[in-house]
Amino acid sequence: MSSQIPQNHKAAVAEKEGGSVNIVDVPTAKPGKGEILVQLKYSGVCHTDSHALIGDWPAHASFPLIGGHEGAGTVVALGEGADKYHQIGDPVGLKWLYSSCLNCDFCAAGTEPNCQKAECHGFTKNGTFQQYAITDASHATPIPKGLPLDAAAPLLCAGVTVYKAIKVANLKPGQTLAISGAGGGLGHLACQYARAAGLKVIAIDTGDEKKKLCDSYGVSAFVDFAAEKDLVAAVKAASEDGLGPHAAVVAASGAKAYEQALEYLRPTGVLVPVGLPPNATIKMDVFWSVFYSKQVRPSYVGNREDAKECLQIADEGKVKVQYKVKGLSELPQVYDDMHHGRIAGRIVLDLAR
Ligand SMILES: [Zn+2]
Ligand SMILES: [Zn+2]
Repeated sequence: MSSQIPQNHKAAVAEKEGGSVNIVDVPTAKPGKGEILVQLKYSGVCHTDSHALIGDWPAHASFPLIGGHEGAGTVVALGEGADKYHQIGDPVGLKWLYSSCLNCDFCAAGTEPNCQKAECHGFTKNGTFQQYAITDASHATPIPKGLPLDAAAPLLCAGVTVYKAIKVANLKPGQTLAISGAGGGLGHLACQYARAAGLKVIAIDTGDEKKKLCDSYGVSAFVDFAAEKDLVAAVKAASEDGLGPHAAVVAASGAKAYEQALEYLRPTGVLVPVGLPPNATIKMDVFWSVFYSKQVRPSYVGNREDAKECLQIADEGKVKVQYKVKGLSELPQVYDDMHHGRIAGRIVLDLAR
């Protein structure tokens, strides 16, 4: 390893589930076979990080844990065989998947997030709330050289997640996509990726600020869920022929938005759930879902190719992340703001402070 790599670096460590995070010095590890060491400059903060720490999901993280899975930095050391994927100095992103087996049916089919041996940053492996991180070379995403690292960070989870969800909806240009939570961290990116794919967008959210943001992306309509008495009727009315949108990407934190989507979708419409609210179920009426042939097609995070494509589209200037930069030391406050719904867009941590 180069002499510039410090023996210790700063990290936000949580000792146990439900505990707090503390900024401490941890030893900088050497990359093993197939691994790289990345000097991280920025990390986004995702709701998943908060769920992992609190432990309110049916799946539980490993502790002690360094959270985070939206990291952007440069490769500073290569383990054996890692040069097949990256070189020293390459800008790379660390996303949710740390590694997968690359050999099973799921990996072969490009659904590697469903690999039974998948490891995840900030969940089963230490993540990106630290200045240096070890990761599997095969899953680190090359970041286009023109894309600033702070702007790239939130795309590595929020961006890829919605980009993949829109792909899963499988619409043709000119068709209509409803986006629930359109002015939020995931939603504002979904609006832009959908527009870049030539889709018409019905944005669902509330308040003037979010309306203004959604309108700036050229959405066809903004439906304010707090102001509308009958949200289902309003969304249908906002579609071109009044029958409802062709698909809906829903990233909401309660079950209601998912069930409403099943109602406002046109016949053959596709609901793509991407949010991960704990203890939420989607009730589906069997008679009407058969009669109207509506589908529920959940989308988990994207694969390695999706991550590359998602960054490429942003590098072409078609997608801009709304984010605020804070220091790593402010992470406990960021979690608190997250719990109280005080965060607009994405928070990106500057790991140097
Ligand atoms: Zn995430
Ligand atoms: Zn696999």
